[in-house]
Amino acid sequence: MRYMSSVVGLASLCMALNVYAGAEGHGKEVHWGYEGEHGPAHWAEMKAEFKQCDAGLEQSPVDLGDATKGDLAKIEFSYQPSAVKVLNNGHTVQVNYSGDSSIKIGAQVYKLVQFHFHSPSENTVKKKPFDMELHLVHKNDKGELAVVGVFMQGGTANQTLEPVWANIPKEINKEATLTAQINVAELLPAKRSFYHFKGSLTTPPCSEGVQWFVMKEPTTVSAEQVKSFVAAVGNNARPVQALNQRSVVASE
Ligand SMILES: [Zn+2]
Repeated sequence: MRYMSSVVGLASLCMALNVYAGAEGHGKEVHWGYEGEHGPAHWAEMKAEFKQCDAGLEQSPVDLGDATKGDLAKIEFSYQPSAVKVLNNGHTVQVNYSGDSSIKIGAQVYKLVQFHFHSPSENTVKKKPFDMELHLVHKNDKGELAVVGVFMQGGTANQTLEPVWANIPKEINKEATLTAQINVAELLPAKRSFYHFKGSLTTPPCSEGVQWFVMKEPTTVSAEQVKSFVAAVGNNARPVQALNQRSVVASE
């Protein structure tokens, strides 16, 4: 009896620590997080599938400060308002986007699947993080990912995020359906210049082959909004990774 209940106890602890490799990918129950023994320095040891977190040579996030100007295809945004579901996966607040929204870069079309947030920002500019970073995760029909990052700097409250923040589920992996539609285009900065580099998921399993496009101009978020995000999921930024052979290209 005693043995049984301790097994059950362990199982529910796993659920509570949670462990859903959610932010940019695939669900697997493992105890990864952002601090101490569960932190980014230990992700690769936790599971064979996570070994890229350590061995990978094209990992995200990175510092964008040494970007060089290059001739990059524009990102054509075609974002529509949509009903959304808000999920607290224990690592981030993720908004699942069911509408027909996409970006086009050259001949490639990537459909918007979800967006989520990090605080502080994961990518940095000259080693400085912003207060938050939005990741808009897109997938093409071959399953390849393109993430658009938007820095968010302390300032006026972000009105578009208000209904999202008001509905962050307290319970991990519970989804809340918003009654109002979210127009994700409102989350983009007015200027569309960006940094581009090849990288990875910033959460385990740290899979590579992800095209990154980080907008140069930040949008704003209020101190209050940052505070309630951190209260819900904690700080969730992986440290910047070595560029190795890569270069960061700026569109202007
Ligand atoms: Zn992310």
